[in-house]
Amino acid sequence: MPNVSVLIPLALPGPYDYAVPADMQLEEGAIVRVPLGPRQVHGVVWGPGLADATDADLARKIKPIIALCDVPPLTEELRGFVDWVANYVMARPGAVLRQVMRVPAAFEPPKPLIVYTAGDKPDKMTAARTRIYDALAERGAMASAELARVAGVSASVVKTLIAGGHLTAREMAGDKHFPMPDAQYRRLDLSKAQADVAQALSAAVKTAQFTTHLLDGVTGAGKTEVYFEAIAQALESGKKALILLPEIALTTQFLDRFEARFGCEPALWHSGLSPAERRRTWREIAEDRVQVLVGARSALFLPWRNIGVIIVDEEHDGGFKQEDGVIYNARDMAVVRGQLADCPVILSTATPSLESYVNAQEGRYVAHRLTARHGAAQLPEIELVDMRTDPPPRGNWLVPQMVERVGAAIERGEQALLFLNRRGYAPLTLCRACGHRYACPDCDAWMVEHRFRKQLQCHHCGHMEGVPESCHGCGEADKLAACGPGVERITEEIIGHFPDARTLVLSSDMGGVAAMREAIARISAGDADIIVGTQIVAKGHDFPNLSFVGVVDADLGLGNGDLRAGERTYQLLSQVAGRSGRRADKPGFAMLQSHMPDHPVLQALAAGAREQFFEREIAARQMAQMPPFGRLAALIISATNPDEGLAFVRQLSARIPAHAQVRVLGPAPAPIARIRNRYRYRFLLKAERQAPLQGFISQWLNDVKPRGSVRLSVDIDPYNFL
Ligand code: ADP
Ligand code: ZN
Repeated sequence: MPNVSVLIPLALPGPYDYAVPADMQLEEGAIVRVPLGPRQVHGVVWGPGLADATDADLARKIKPIIALCDVPPLTEELRGFVDWVANYVMARPGAVLRQVMRVPAAFEPPKPLIVYTAGDKPDKMTAARTRIYDALAERGAMASAELARVAGVSASVVKTLIAGGHLTAREMAGDKHFPMPDAQYRRLDLSKAQADVAQALSAAVKTAQFTTHLLDGVTGAGKTEVYFEAIAQALESGKKALILLPEIALTTQFLDRFEARFGCEPALWHSGLSPAERRRTWREIAEDRVQVLVGARSALFLPWRNIGVIIVDEEHDGGFKQEDGVIYNARDMAVVRGQLADCPVILSTATPSLESYVNAQEGRYVAHRLTARHGAAQLPEIELVDMRTDPPPRGNWLVPQMVERVGAAIERGEQALLFLNRRGYAPLTLCRACGHRYACPDCDAWMVEHRFRKQLQCHHCGHMEGVPESCHGCGEADKLAACGPGVERITEEIIGHFPDARTLVLSSDMGGVAAMREAIARISAGDADIIVGTQIVAKGHDFPNLSFVGVVDADLGLGNGDLRAGERTYQLLSQVAGRSGRRADKPGFAMLQSHMPDHPVLQALAAGAREQFFEREIAARQMAQMPPFGRLAALIISATNPDEGLAFVRQLSARIPAHAQVRVLGPAPAPIARIRNRYRYRFLLKAERQAPLQGFISQWLNDVKPRGSVRLSVDIDPYNFL
């Protein structure tokens, strides 16, 4: 019996050898079931056996493969991607393979499914029943659970119709396929500028070679319509298209636009899918039957066979960085996957990350610019308010000019948005009698008051308490003072000014994705006058009636001193301002409240001097040899027992390798020194661009093992410096 090596999707040191039973035909990449200790697990045939075949003792220990799963094998491309990512982010290959193998139910062929079509309607039709028949008319046969979901009715309504014989049952072999997008369904008339870029991108898709494109166009330029043409070309070439979006669960607008262009919705991949949808989607992709999918970062690890183009929309968004488990940046890994798949990768944004901007400047990425909004719409004018000379009235957070602008917008029948990137009512609560500050018991962080829910919450671990009636420190009642504003407090203030306006808060606290989606739909439909929102409002939405944006605290992101503070503030504020004035007849205007209006980032924003901002930022990074001109990595050590943590940190400190191109800073307590009761320490590695950073780290960590409560993680190209 020959042996093969099988990689198991667990954080094990490497693949293990298994024997192939005589009657089993195996290809590399095949998904198999193997014994692992007392368990049976899935694994993937990774290559020939590695164990020494002449060692008889060892040979006896090698166990046979139990079964071969009835699913297409993972392609060499995908296996290569797993190995590449594992090497780059310094994770175990099995841990990366886990990103691929999350849906074991998809490894066996689907069971036959009972689906229903419309039968004789009952005499008594309710609104819910009508929706069921409408859904069937529109979508065709569906399983009962899916039918209930699509029609938006409870399962019992469907069951009653089935029991009454009003729906016709039929057995369907296999999964329902996703509808086929039609490349020709409805082509928009593109502007000359759009058409030129669309043509360049389509040509790249047609040649089927790896190239990376930066689609860099102002907010409202019509970038989506442009990259839709690249997707159309992929479809025409018989290839698949993958679109990665941050906050995918909130993007119903995007799905509508896709449907308007291609005649049906794309497949979806995000954490909100039901297990059944997840299984079907994975399986259909493995069988090479999904044409276009819109997904979160994990969609990169799906078993694609024939990718024609990968699009990363809002490429600057920090949400593409996965911060736990396998720590990777999906934007960067998308480029890697494109390279392995020989297809172009399109990074789309109105505010490029500095990395991508420099890559375009240095010719590694092909740059495409759209400098004007679609049609006659103009970019909003941006004005700074100096809060030092022009403060708001006592006890308020909004200057009178801001309130006037909001009033003027709603007077014109338009919408106003107030932006503050801070959830809750107030970021700090203290006792006016004794000065006691409410802190999280498990983190080094203040508790944030959420007045609408009557709770204090820690934003790092989620710990919650009721708002206390009397001070925990001195026992005095009614002495608690809220310090600083959050969105709830701004809402309270603006309602005070405009009690009759329809005011809506948009933040991740509103109770789930469905509620947020509904709020976004209401705003687009003009069903709100004033919106108070956190960064969720900045994410690519098209609000046609919005003409004024007020930023409550433009300085918020500038103070924390991390590497990307300026870059992030620039991106966030230009994205937020860019929500306004998307229609030619409603010019946009943005007002930024600041205590440091002379700050270069804010000056560049107000002047619309994007290139100036980039040049300054690039010069500063170059000088400091910071990314993308140098490289960073972080080692994060955490432990529930601080002595254990410190001992491990000391052990690491004592064995830092010497290397001319790599500097190790630290150890230092992490800026938030305790989260979820784990004490945290950090080493920061700063390396020259070409330095063998991963090799340095493996040499350093070779043979050291965290023990007890200690955990060690490596973050290559860190984004989060907390
Ligand atoms: P971006 O993604 O660049 O911010 P969008 O793609 O959202 O811009 O486009 C902004 C608005 O302009 C959308 O409502 C879109 O439907 C519209 N639009 C863009 N291009 C066209 C076009 N060629 N014809 C008609 N409408 C367009
Ligand atoms: Zn906490």
